[in-house]
Amino acid sequence: MKITGIETFTLRAPLEEPFAYSQWRYTHRETTLVEVRTSEGITGWGEAYSPSAPVAAAIDRFLAPLVIGRDPRDVEDLWQFLYARGLDYGPKGTLVAAISALDIAFWDIKARAAHVPLYRLLGGARTESIPCYATGFYFRESETLERRFAKEAEAYASEGFTAMKVKVGLGVDRDAELVELVRRTIGPGIGLMIDANHAYDPVTAVRLARRIERFDITWFEEPVSPLDPDGYLEVKARIAIPLAGGECEFTRFGFEPWFRRRALDYAQPDLCACGGITEGMKIAALASLHQVHVTPHAWGSAIGQAAALHFYAARPRHPGTLTAERKVIECDRSENPFRTEIAVSPVRLERGSWLLPDGPGLGVGIDRGALERFRATA
Ligand code: CA
Repeated sequence: MKITGIETFTLRAPLEEPFAYSQWRYTHRETTLVEVRTSEGITGWGEAYSPSAPVAAAIDRFLAPLVIGRDPRDVEDLWQFLYARGLDYGPKGTLVAAISALDIAFWDIKARAAHVPLYRLLGGARTESIPCYATGFYFRESETLERRFAKEAEAYASEGFTAMKVKVGLGVDRDAELVELVRRTIGPGIGLMIDANHAYDPVTAVRLARRIERFDITWFEEPVSPLDPDGYLEVKARIAIPLAGGECEFTRFGFEPWFRRRALDYAQPDLCACGGITEGMKIAALASLHQVHVTPHAWGSAIGQAAALHFYAARPRHPGTLTAERKVIECDRSENPFRTEIAVSPVRLERGSWLLPDGPGLGVGIDRGALERFRATA
């Protein structure tokens, strides 16, 4: 089998209602998909979690020409080849996100060619579904955040989610009010995470954590800068809430110091950025050496969500007990037509859990009409 063609799809869609988190306000959703075609008619899909224009250029003009004619099933060799080619210029960031998209597509092809769901090639899954936490609670201007957060909390709980993640970063007092409101709305027994998207310095992160510790917070995500593992350590030493992070980190080389120094309790590599499936497996293996949980970040299209699900489903329980760890994976509930409208057979969500697809590869069929509709022409 040989790679015969690689095409990128830069997708862009306006949002019905803009939303914000601590770092940015969104009026559009944007992503980049890649389709890898082969001599045997099998096609694989991948996605990059990175700004579209540079990552599409990295694939189209730099990486794709290097792999035409190669066998896409040689995932390990291809990864090493592509990473080595870009190492001197882009050991992290957009170039690695571009490799990630290709790597996911290669794995999709490899599993399709073997007629098995991808998670089987990655080690197999012990279960048919994985519980999710709902990612939502973005900041909006159309109604008060009190009303909005209460509505979302009730909706996620009634949809069957057993955990949900609230955005913080509005200042300690405001954050504490809203977290308390959500906890009071859902009651005990439902997991509650918070995510600051690195809005705080360590002192402020500690102040916030201490104010809300009594609300049984599962984890505090990106409390401080992703460039500051010492800041994580400082926060971790002074609060009782576990820390999560890693969506801005890349490759095993980037994650290793975080694990070695115990700066994270939950590592959140994004498969569409960290180096793809091939590198995600290595990151997870390293994490297991250091007692760090891995639960992938997923904020992309139906492709990225499926990649995260297959990867996570095939990870062993950690620690290795019969019941101690309750797996939980991210499920973005914010408006994103690429998650809901480009797939003819998206991964199914039922009572707050993703059902593992049983079709070959990622198990996601693409609606090419929808793809063209969202394709950015500029
Ligand atoms: Ca996050």
